[in-house]
Amino acid sequence: MAGLVPAIHVFIPLKSWMPGTRLVLGPAEGRTRVPGMTAEKALLSRSWHLALMTSPELEKDLRAAIRNIPDYPKPGIIFRDITTLLGDARAFRRAVDELVQPWAGMKIDKVAGIEARGFILGGAVAHQVSAGFIPIRKKGKLPYKRVTIGYSLEYGIDEMEMHEDAVQKGERVILVDDLIATGGTAEAAVKLLRKLGANVLAACFVIDLPELGGADKLRKLQVPVRTLISFEGH
Ligand code: AMP
Repeated sequence: MAGLVPAIHVFIPLKSWMPGTRLVLGPAEGRTRVPGMTAEKALLSRSWHLALMTSPELEKDLRAAIRNIPDYPKPGIIFRDITTLLGDARAFRRAVDELVQPWAGMKIDKVAGIEARGFILGGAVAHQVSAGFIPIRKKGKLPYKRVTIGYSLEYGIDEMEMHEDAVQKGERVILVDDLIATGGTAEAAVKLLRKLGANVLAACFVIDLPELGGADKLRKLQVPVRTLISFEGH
């Protein structure tokens, strides 16, 4: 495990910056101050990804609040249904609080949510961090002038859209969705936001399916990724 952690030494006052976050391992426990190391740069490093893992208690609670539906929408897929989590006041609140907890206290201009479950979580997160909300929608749903991006689905391609004035150049944006699988949807959303000049601070998901590589895809785009629980497989 230790072999996974590059030798990066960071000192950030964890207690004030990320209360409740479990620092898992590695040199990022750091007692050495690095000139020029900001919280955002630290969040991009692999060791800080590990440091951002959530507590086992939180994972257990959230996992219990999610309903698993085998073979939906097709054989072999386990659908991770968050409607049960949304219906549980305590779990919903915890998920929203924890999603952006590493960025709490930083200036966030907008939260962008991906249709449709990202709207529910993203709207609550936006309220929580006193930011505006941007809907990223499937093609043909937004009424004003739009920017559009195509992305690959398992079968074929699709398009997503944003209003062209939804974000101003340089605005600090956090992207939210319920789940990241292959990362195709979130990658397209990041590209769409960047097309309009957004500074994408992070992408946050309740659920990660790490075997599908989506979170790594976003990290390759220099986007720090926050996920709360992960499930094996698809
Ligand atoms: P992807 O683009 O492959 O990362 O897929 C992510 C999008 O598809 C998210 O908006 C999810 O809501 C949805 N999704 C993908 N796989 C699942 C799954 N197993 N259970 C629930 N939603 C899923």
